[in-house]
Amino acid sequence: MNAADFRLSRDGRVTPAAFIASPNCDARPPGARIDALVIHAISLPPGCYGGDFIERLFTNRLDPRAHPAFVDIADLKVSSHFLVDRAGALLQFVPASMRAWHAGESKLHGRECVNDFSIGIELEGCDHDRFTAAQYDTLSKLAQLLRARYPAIRPERIVGHSDIAPGRKTDPGPHFDWQRLRALLATPATAATAVTNATNATNATNATDARATKTTVAPPRA
Ligand SMILES: [Zn+2]
Repeated sequence: MNAADFRLSRDGRVTPAAFIASPNCDARPPGARIDALVIHAISLPPGCYGGDFIERLFTNRLDPRAHPAFVDIADLKVSSHFLVDRAGALLQFVPASMRAWHAGESKLHGRECVNDFSIGIELEGCDHDRFTAAQYDTLSKLAQLLRARYPAIRPERIVGHSDIAPGRKTDPGPHFDWQRLRALLATPATAATAVTNATNATNATNATDARATKTTVAPPRA
C-alpha cells in the first residue's frame, strides 16, 4: 500500500486502510472540534510484533488465556482511530469523526478528556525499540492528510500519550523521533518521502524506496 494515495472520506475513514470496526467508541461531545493528534505505541504481547492481538484488543476479542500479559487487559474497553504496523500498513478502527477511547485520564494544554477532541494513532512498537522508516512514512502522510481536514491540529498539538498522561503513560517512548516527524510534517508530502529515504538508507525495513513521488496528500498548513 502506498501511503501517498491515502484519502479521507467525509466521516473520517481513510482509504485504502483496512477498516476493522471497534465497538469501543462513541460520539464526540456536541461542538467538539478535532484539534489534536495523540501518538501512542503498543505491542502485544509486550515487545512482540506481528499477529492480530492489537486488533483483538480493540475489538474486545482478546483471549486472556493466550498470554499471561493479556489477563489484565483483555477486559479493557479501548480503541484507537489508527494503527500503523511495523511494515507501515495502516489499520483503522474508528472513523475520525467519532471519539475513540485511547487517551484515558489525560490533559492537553490545560484541557482534560483528550479523547473528546483528539485523534489517536497507535504505532506498533515499545519503549525499547526504534520505529521503522515505513512507520514514519505512513504516520507523516496520515498526519498531513488529517491536518488538511482538521487544520486546528497545529504542530504543537501533535503529542505523545506520555505528554497528556505524564507519570501514567510512557508511550510512544524514548525512541520515537519527534524531530524526524516534525521535519516530515514541515515538508510537502513528496519531499517528505525523499527525506525518509535519505535518513534511513541503511534501515532494512525501509519500504519507501520504490514508492512513486506522485501524491494526492495536501501539504501541511503552516
Ligand atoms: Zn498510549
